[in-house]
Parts: sequence; structure tokens; C-alpha cells
Amino acid sequence: MALTNRSKVVSNKEMTFMESLYLPAIFSGMMITIKHLFRKPATIKYPEQIRPFSGIYRGQHVLKRDENGAERCTACGLCAVACPAEAITMTAAERVKGEEGLYREEKYAAVYEINMLRCIFCGDCEEACPKEAIFLTDRKVDSFYTRKEFIFGKDILVESSNNPIDLSKRETEQVKEFKHHKEFAHNQTYADKAKAIKH
Ligand code: SF4
Ligand code: SF4
Repeated sequence: MALTNRSKVVSNKEMTFMESLYLPAIFSGMMITIKHLFRKPATIKYPEQIRPFSGIYRGQHVLKRDENGAERCTACGLCAVACPAEAITMTAAERVKGEEGLYREEKYAAVYEINMLRCIFCGDCEEACPKEAIFLTDRKVDSFYTRKEFIFGKDILVESSNNPIDLSKRETEQVKEFKHHKEFAHNQTYADKAKAIKH
């Protein structure tokens, strides 16, 4: 079955004298090249020139902290299950006494890694997270020379307490509206839930 009408039957016929000179073919090739000199280029001079990104561009992930600076991720593994590229791996650990300020819940990710070479930036991890812990941001992933460097651990993914990552640019009006509905809130700690049940 022909997918396009551009296919040509290969012929083994003898070349004519003009064809054996190759000049007409070279000239026609040069004409194509010259024609492109006067056309608007399809490419830009990156990084000197940067095209505007979409408001909902999905770039490098961040693992968020809560309002008290504790890591939100509770190592439930839902993001890893949802990831179609199997890019996320983690090791869970139990919070010990005295670590309440570091980790929001009793369980946390001692190791959390994303393989950026596997990631297709689909955003499914963000959608799956019940703790509003992982988000994709408008930051670009850096380039590296070795594959190992593309495995981002917590040292890169967890936001700094002093310099939180602003996600408001990626939030659409619909998301902002949704967050006003307390009845849909899914970002609760066990303590919050226990309090709600008591009332
Ligand atoms: S953005 Fe998609 S591919 Fe990348 S880690 Fe998240 S779920 Fe996996
Ligand atoms: S980022 Fe969210 S979904 Fe992934 S393990 Fe942490 S809490 Fe669970």
C-alpha cells in the first residue's frame, strides 16, 4: 500500500549525455539551496533567541514543601505507578521523633529519583499525586555529558526552603477555581483528617 504519491520506480536505464554531465542536477540542487536563502528561516539562534513558552509548559519537576517547610511527599508511590515512562523510583522511610519539621507525614521518601532521559514530561505524576507534592515547572532541564547526571535526586528536586518555586504561572483559572472548593481538598495530613472526623 502506498502511503504517499511521491514514490518513484527506480530505473536502471542508461544515462543520457546531459545526465552524465551531472551539471543540470547540480544546478537544480543549488537553486533549491539559493531559494531558501530568501525565505524566513524556520529555526532560531538559540540560546541568544528564545521563543515564548506556552503558559502551561511542563519542564523540570519540583518536590514541594508545605507552608511550614516540611517535605510534602509521603512516598506513596502513586506518581511512580502513574508514570508511563517508568522514570520515577523511590525508597520510603519512616519519620522518627524530632523530624516532624522535616517531613509532613509519618512516611517520607528517603530516596526519590527521576530519570530525565526517560521522562516525557506528560504531567501524569503531578496529576496522580494526592499530596500536591510533585509539580512540573516552567524550568528547562539542563544538558549534561553523561547519562548518570540525568538522574535527578532529592538534592535537585526538593525545593529550597529559602527559595520556593513559584507555580502560579502554570495554574489555569480553572485550577485556581477548583482549589477554592474545600470539599474537594485531597491534600490533607492524617492529623487533618482525624480532626475532621472528630468534628
Ligand atoms: S512527567 Fe510523565 S514521564 Fe515524566 S516523570 Fe512524570 S509521569 Fe513520568
Ligand atoms: S510525589 Fe506525591 S504521588 Fe509521588 S510518592 Fe510523593 S506523595 Fe506520592
